[in-house]
Amino acid sequence: MEFRNLKKQYQTLKSEIDSNMQEVLQNTNFISGRQVTELEEKLAKYVGVKHCISCANGTDALSLALMAWEIGPGDAVFVPDFTFFSSGEVVSFEGAEPVFVDVKEDTFNIDPAKLRQAVMKVAGEKKYRPKVIIAVDLFGQPAEYEEIRKIADEFGLFVLEDGAQGFGGEINGKKACSFGDISTTSFFPAKPLGCYGDGGAVFTDNDEWAALIGSYRIHGKGSYKYDNVRIGMNSRLDTLQAAVLLAKLHAFEQYEVSEVNRVAEKYTEELAAVVKTPIVLDGYLSSWAQYTIQLESREQRDGLQNYLKERGIPSMIYYPKAMHSQEAFAPFKGEESELSVTTGLCQKVLALPMHPYMEEDEVIQITTAIKEYIGK
Ligand SMILES: *Cc1c(COP(=O)(O)O)cnc(C)c1O
Repeated sequence: MEFRNLKKQYQTLKSEIDSNMQEVLQNTNFISGRQVTELEEKLAKYVGVKHCISCANGTDALSLALMAWEIGPGDAVFVPDFTFFSSGEVVSFEGAEPVFVDVKEDTFNIDPAKLRQAVMKVAGEKKYRPKVIIAVDLFGQPAEYEEIRKIADEFGLFVLEDGAQGFGGEINGKKACSFGDISTTSFFPAKPLGCYGDGGAVFTDNDEWAALIGSYRIHGKGSYKYDNVRIGMNSRLDTLQAAVLLAKLHAFEQYEVSEVNRVAEKYTEELAAVVKTPIVLDGYLSSWAQYTIQLESREQRDGLQNYLKERGIPSMIYYPKAMHSQEAFAPFKGEESELSVTTGLCQKVLALPMHPYMEEDEVIQITTAIKEYIGK
């Protein structure tokens, strides 16, 4: 069994993906080909924002946003403690201070009440200037943007939506990657919309930031490539990746998001009485980057993972370590006790196989094994 069956997806979409890739090979327009612009236009339309600027990966996408806002030393950026390393790495990379905020146990996303406390604390201490909230749409579900926006407005902060896992999700019909002042995503192969290598994109309605990001991603270019007006980076999306994404976006819109929701519903139906299953808030739609259950303890979780492995069922631990306890951010300056939900989740979470091409009998095979292990 595959954790995320990219082989089956390729077999299903083979003719369109192959012909799109062949076209790039024939034209040899490997960098900044017309497919890149076409993809950017389609993605902006899909998300419902004015600008989409593609780039080399989801980490660069976050960096480009922080660069456009000139975030640097002395600035505080609020980041959930439970996320992939990139969400905080980019803050330190700009020389700013990541402030880790605990998440909610039932959604895995940043806890707005604790976010408010953290912002007030930093503002009161006057050591760092509060500047940005990076809200992550973890495992496919958008963060609580209505609450987050209130805090941002009250304290004059920017909201950066890290939609690397959230692409395709919604709140009341409004699409993920439209909730931040700037939003970003990743096209890493295993993300909800993945390419065949690394890729990413930045989304915004703001013309000035869009122009800046367009410049930063190509060596800080001015009116043309050899006119360089600022220090930037080399972060373009390859034409081949854009060609793959154009083929995949179609399937993503047509049925993949609804199919992962079908799989998630089946899992929850089978498992809700057995383990803690993930919650999707009212009016929210998840794109199910992961389907994550919670066990009672590390022993039970690790035991289940082994039990599944012996039966040929892959599972993953996202994430085994809180951001605040990553060595790269050491020494941790906050209060351990304020991040207890994340610390607990790291012991108890287990992500199950999840992708749009999963058959119902595969789900049943997995849930049956889990029920056997738990003994219910
Ligand atoms: C994957 C991921 C990123 C980084 O994306 P890359 O394309 O791998 O650089 C950032 N944030 C989150 C939450 C992610 O899951």
